[in-house]
Amino acid sequence: MTHNFGAGPCILPQEVFKQASQAVLEFNGTGLSILEISHRTPEFEAVVDETVRLVKELLNVPEGYSVVLLQGGASLQFAMVPMNLLAEGETAAYLNTGVWATKALKEAKIFGNVNVVASSKDDNFTFIPKDFEIPSDSAYFHYTSNNTIYGTELMTVPETSVPVVCDMSSDIFSRVIDVSQFSLIYAGAQKNMGPAGLTLAIVKDEILGKIDRKIPSMLDYKVQIDGGSMYNTPPVFAIYVSMLNLRWLKSKGGVAEIEKENISKSEALYKEIDRNPLFKGTCSIEDRSRMNVCFVMENPELEKPFLKFAEDRDIIGIKGHRSVGGFRASMYNALPITSVHTLIDAMQEFAEKHR
Ligand code: PMP
Repeated sequence: MTHNFGAGPCILPQEVFKQASQAVLEFNGTGLSILEISHRTPEFEAVVDETVRLVKELLNVPEGYSVVLLQGGASLQFAMVPMNLLAEGETAAYLNTGVWATKALKEAKIFGNVNVVASSKDDNFTFIPKDFEIPSDSAYFHYTSNNTIYGTELMTVPETSVPVVCDMSSDIFSRVIDVSQFSLIYAGAQKNMGPAGLTLAIVKDEILGKIDRKIPSMLDYKVQIDGGSMYNTPPVFAIYVSMLNLRWLKSKGGVAEIEKENISKSEALYKEIDRNPLFKGTCSIEDRSRMNVCFVMENPELEKPFLKFAEDRDIIGIKGHRSVGGFRASMYNALPITSVHTLIDAMQEFAEKHR
């Protein structure tokens, strides 16, 4: 068995792969592959409906919000958010906690003013800034809930009276959230939702239609919502696999249950990092992410040998992002706790050898 700690696209449940591969051969008794059916068939419309329903159910999305399936990745949302919500001359507040947040605020500057309320850039984003002010006349406040590259995560929503927009690409569906605290949530699917090619947005309806900029149809939330996520041809297969994955999550007991597993997995690995004299964590302890665990070795010369040692045990995807170095173990929903224990065992064995 390969232990896939990759940061994304990432591990999905084996049963999802099996069901998805079956549908490539024949989808739902149609005699056709999922890859050759029209997105306008009742069979596929049922897939979109179920996917949206599962998102609403699993995240407990309240009335007054629309769930919409888009393309272009989270990166297109960096632009779509200000295009739809930030009028020229207005200012949006951004918290800068990493590369993705930086890219998001760069796009916002095309459409209006950006106020970076706090940043941990000078410390290579090793912590989440606290005690910042969000001016009450901001058009919205944007933050990244989980910083995939640095391994930091905001578990609570910063206090503010302005609409909150959140990039949840790498921790959505990993823990219970209160959607009513947000005006807009978006996420590239390719972590805990499904394969790459699909982007999820959860939009509070009342925030739309407030600015008079002309917006291209494809980039207009209202057009996409009114089109039922089918304004144009949607990413049929990515939606289908996401539906299977959300069904799997529901069968596991939903987000509250998977959150317990995610807590156990991350606690076990952080405990080893803190205990093992060869390793150390890279970010401030109170901001540690459950999804992406970043660590380095006290002696950097041992990093290459440890990577090889891990690979020999079928542990893959743990090389850290180039801007942090060392290691990053991404532990998304589908990663079994047995894989985490295999990594911990490897760290212990390696430490025994290098005492
Ligand atoms: N935001 C976060 C938090 C991410 O982790 C990523 C990608 N890993 C992105 C945005 C960019 O997503 P995409 O590649 O879907 O544009």
